Amino acid sequence: MLLYNTLGRKKEEFIPVRPGRATMYVCGITAYDFCHIGHARSAVFFDVLARRLRHSGHNLTFVRNFTDVDDKIIARANSEGRDWLEVANTHIAAFHEDMDRLKVLRADFEPRATEYIPQIQEICVTLIAAGKAYATPSGDVYFRVRAWPRYGRLSGRGLDELLAGARVVSGEEKEDPLDFALWKAAKNGEPFWESPWGKGRPGWHIECSAMSAPWLPLDIHGGGQDLIFPHHENEIAQSEAAGNAALANYWIHNGFVQTNAEKMSKSLGNATTIRAMLKNYLPETLRFFILSKHYRSPVDFTQQSMDEAEKALRRVYSALLEASGALARGKWKNSALPENMRREWESLPEAFEVALDDDVNTAQALGQIFSQTRLVNRLLEDKNLRGSEGGRKMLAEFLERAFDWERQLGLFGATPAAFLEELRDIRVRRKNLDRGRIADLLKRREIARAGENFAESDELRDRLAESGVTVRDTREGQIWDLE
Ligand SMILES: [Zn+2]
Repeated sequence: MLLYNTLGRKKEEFIPVRPGRATMYVCGITAYDFCHIGHARSAVFFDVLARRLRHSGHNLTFVRNFTDVDDKIIARANSEGRDWLEVANTHIAAFHEDMDRLKVLRADFEPRATEYIPQIQEICVTLIAAGKAYATPSGDVYFRVRAWPRYGRLSGRGLDELLAGARVVSGEEKEDPLDFALWKAAKNGEPFWESPWGKGRPGWHIECSAMSAPWLPLDIHGGGQDLIFPHHENEIAQSEAAGNAALANYWIHNGFVQTNAEKMSKSLGNATTIRAMLKNYLPETLRFFILSKHYRSPVDFTQQSMDEAEKALRRVYSALLEASGALARGKWKNSALPENMRREWESLPEAFEVALDDDVNTAQALGQIFSQTRLVNRLLEDKNLRGSEGGRKMLAEFLERAFDWERQLGLFGATPAAFLEELRDIRVRRKNLDRGRIADLLKRREIARAGENFAESDELRDRLAESGVTVRDTREGQIWDLE
């Protein structure tokens, strides 16, 4: 399996430290607000990477932390007149709710910063003893960046370049503008813990060094590209300067999400939080949209791209539904499929695997699923092919392969009929159509057709079409959809 390693800036073969085992630590959220689609992208991608590692036979330990004490949490608590811990707890619970809906599997360990205060202080003590950190008179502890020559290796930045961007905020007692905080003296009214340097709380970066410590060296350390600098750079400096040979061997970062804020807010009410998003789209649509792009490319998030994702999902689920219907009804003649069709059909699952092994190329893997769907549709449209023994086998395999897509991508695992109905309902809601009125017109049309009153049935069809509702008459009765 190839993975793009930010550390070497190239794809590398994934070889875990302990054969057959793998450890992955992904930086989690700072729990002060509801998650937006950028969080969804990161969580869905690392979920697929975790699924893939397990599928490839690695016994994976997956750790994702929560930052539950931080400037932003304290600021939010103060502005809302709430307790900081309550703010953190609320948003950790909301994270779980959102991610469960997106079928993001829980990590094996979900440590919280406040559970690691003694370990955090221990790292500070070690770094101070080694001359890599220092305490100030007011009780802050800083990492001495110039005492760590490898600093900047991950982000590829030199100290001079960093110095140009560094500032000392007035009141700070840093030796050097490059230094960053490991421990912060508590201001009045802030949460604090007793420490050798007085009452204080941890800085942001140090907590990940403490929470990842039980698993070092990590095979994979991950997060969004925005974390490469300074967060991950600082994590490496702390963990390695504290005496560890390496923090992680593979550094994996997912790309940014760009939103067309103006357009989004007009059409969806500024719906860039996951929960606002899921008022208008099914969770699987968001998950599919995220996986339809390569994880490292920037993604432009628009309503149009979500509509396209919805359409693509509908195509696959419709084919799954029709395949199972055809299987249930079919009478099979003993004939094979045309050779080229059979060969293409059999080659696609391997291409799917190859795509996922090539730096988790989910966009390409989904492309293989579409190719399979196209072949299945071709088969369903052709009476001879559909009735052949080879066709029966192909339809059965199509349904079976969907289980694999569900296991590996967390997609296409719903019951097709139920999913398509849910999808239709959410589209009806998005278009502000009257579900009751549609149901009434459909019912009346069914009665008209049963009584062979075709003029009335046609008129009802026209009235439905005015709301954008299309009706198809099938052996199972009328099937309706939105244009
Ligand atoms: Zn982190």
